[in-house]
Amino acid sequence: MIAQSKPYLISRNFCKKIYHQLKKPRKTKFPEIISIELSTLCNAKCKFCPHSNIHEKDKKRAINMSEEVFRKIIDQCVDHKELKLIKPSLFGEPSITPHLFERLEYIKEKLPTVKIRLISNGLAMTPEKIDKLVENRLCDEINFSLDADEKETFEKFKGISWDKVIRNINYSILRNNESGKRIRIILSFVCTPENEGQLKGFKERWKGKVQGFHIGSESGVRRRKNLINKKTTLPCPQIFNRLNFLSDGRAVLCCIDAYGEVIVGDIKEQNLLDIWNSPKFGNIRRLHLNGEKYKIPLCNICEEWY
Ligand code: SF4
Repeated sequence: MIAQSKPYLISRNFCKKIYHQLKKPRKTKFPEIISIELSTLCNAKCKFCPHSNIHEKDKKRAINMSEEVFRKIIDQCVDHKELKLIKPSLFGEPSITPHLFERLEYIKEKLPTVKIRLISNGLAMTPEKIDKLVENRLCDEINFSLDADEKETFEKFKGISWDKVIRNINYSILRNNESGKRIRIILSFVCTPENEGQLKGFKERWKGKVQGFHIGSESGVRRRKNLINKKTTLPCPQIFNRLNFLSDGRAVLCCIDAYGEVIVGDIKEQNLLDIWNSPKFGNIRRLHLNGEKYKIPLCNICEEWY
């Protein structure tokens, strides 16, 4: 009898390690990705998200980004061809951001070749908003963070209505198809203990209906309950090609830095390029390249790149 071997599963982290052994990250001349926290407002209570403590842990944080700060960031991106993507959110829900559409219009006007990705929990992404986004092509991609395949699980760990979110996602798909797929609809699924076993059903339910999936792990977002505290060596690619602005204009280390623990600059006082090329950010990159990122407390407890 021939023994059947078990299918070999290649983990996400294994792939990362191979990739980074082959290719060390290098700082781009200008960020390729910029995240802008237009607002910290959110209408969900996802259990894995650090959002609920933001203002308690970071007293300086504004709720809404001022027009002045927003324009300062966007205006300084003009003529930088390296910039590929803007995410107009970081730790807030963009669909309830004041002046969202005006701000998207401004980005489109100033940076017509840069893609815009909206990441939304879907609750307030109503048919009216979808119509406006699709008709005017105010973004290139909407990424709905669904994170579950069962109503009960979803409502328990996100604290919002499954029926409303599914209605909005279905409407987005319909409206987008009618418009000739002007934008990409993506669904994301962060794997957590709460939604264990639902990924297969999630993919089957939506396969062929949306333009793609983003499957992630909660390692970064719920890190504080799971300190790994090990000396890790892989450099994190994010600090070499991405810049993240909080709602008050301070730039933070990465998309994991919900509480503004590692500030690398401030657009109110510095130019964007000066922040990107600052000695402080340079030292952080050097520590990562030298295998010493454990010296940065936030990186030492982050499982994203170990
Ligand atoms: S905290 Fe994690 S994601 Fe952020 S720079 Fe460090 S290793 Fe990268």
